[in-house]
Amino acid sequence: IAFESLAERLQQTMQKIKGKGKVSEADVKEMAREVRLALLEADVNFKVVKQFVNRVKERAVGQEVMKSLTPGQQVIKVVNEELTALMGSEESKIETASKPPTVIMMVGLQGAGKTTTTAKLANYLRKKKNKTPMLVAADIYRPAAIDQLNTLGKQLDMPVYSEGTDVSPVDIVKRGVEKAKEEHHDTVILDTAGRLHVDENLMDELKEMKASVNPDEILLVVDAMTGQDAVNVSEQFNELLEISGVVLTKLDGDTRGGAALSIRAVTEKPIKFAGMGEKIDQLEPFHPERMASRILGMGDVLSLIEKAQTNVDEEKAKELEAKLRNADLTFDDFLEQIDQVKSMGPLEDLLGMLPGANKMKGMKNMQVDDSQIGKVEAIVRSMTKQEKVEPKIINASRKRRIAKGSGTTVQDVNKLLKQFEDMKKMMKQMTSQMGGKAGKRKGK
Ligand code: GDP
Repeated sequence: IAFESLAERLQQTMQKIKGKGKVSEADVKEMAREVRLALLEADVNFKVVKQFVNRVKERAVGQEVMKSLTPGQQVIKVVNEELTALMGSEESKIETASKPPTVIMMVGLQGAGKTTTTAKLANYLRKKKNKTPMLVAADIYRPAAIDQLNTLGKQLDMPVYSEGTDVSPVDIVKRGVEKAKEEHHDTVILDTAGRLHVDENLMDELKEMKASVNPDEILLVVDAMTGQDAVNVSEQFNELLEISGVVLTKLDGDTRGGAALSIRAVTEKPIKFAGMGEKIDQLEPFHPERMASRILGMGDVLSLIEKAQTNVDEEKAKELEAKLRNADLTFDDFLEQIDQVKSMGPLEDLLGMLPGANKMKGMKNMQVDDSQIGKVEAIVRSMTKQEKVEPKIINASRKRRIAKGSGTTVQDVNKLLKQFEDMKKMMKQMTSQMGGKAGKRKGK
């Protein structure tokens, strides 16, 4: 599982600093040391590590003061932001030609996953971007690459242009692009010839292709499992061919994450897609921010809950997870949470850790004022067992009774009921947004 050990180590480090109300320079130093070791162990390029750690140290010591976060949380925020910046800040788009077809040239060494990725990308562009891609089989060196692409094309019901293996690949791509133009495909993806190593013949051939078809994108396919080799290959290809982006394959495998974390910094070219498995639909746009959050374990509902539940036994934590996922939270859970929240700082901070939570509807009503917690507690304790489980039944007369019992007003009760509904809605939104991933404990 990609990044697992890096994520674990960084999360441990962040856990130590998280609760701190005061972060000394010595704390930052210690944290920086641990981050450095974790990154080096994850096979991140040492120059990149050095730069990264220096930036984090600088920013963490001379931190911008933000009222809503504790110093410990601010340090984590800095690490998260720098980690995101390292991988490129935002998702990168595929360039499109002003005059179709858009020509995408896939390059890479044998075995990196170039042919597979060619088909995956075509499938992605058709499905998600409504494109009508045509594929061109020009990898004449790897035995069976052309058959493989033809098979994938059939599977996808997508045209594949090929001329066998006895023709120069430069001619194949040239005629392939012509054909795509004639047949009005808006996109043509070229599976170019790979080699076992970067060598002069390969580069000359690719340069010739580039000059002949003038591609809008040159995407280098590299295997994440090869770690620093992937970084070196990227550097070489970029120098000689000037690529436009990278596709990192096999991120589903047992990688340490070094390639993903170094490629952008070393080549200054974005990782545009990540291959997450052998299947045709296992290609995802690469989101630096999400990846950073995953690595730090932030923005993961489950890890958030795990943290909130440190004092509660495992069973209960599991129960709550399931409830949140199904959004059938009760007021009893709510009450239990209040105690946890009290020991963790304001609820807004917790929610702020979730990606996109700020932008979510209902967030405004969600802000639970700490001074109000006593009131909230009193209200919940005045509810009957059934009311706690099924707040829907709380009608006007029940509201009056609850208000009286808790020494509050009906408005207070209404406000809490509304907040509770909003929270449930938001939990539902968040967990469905995270899709299947919410069900897994470690960032996969
Ligand atoms: P090429 O020589 O670069 O064209 O490599 P292929 O496309 O034939 O891929 C080599 C092997 O890697 C094949 O067995 C693919 O199924 C596998 N592969 C490609 N991408 C991924 C990926 O993202 N994850 C996994 N697990 N395997 C992949």
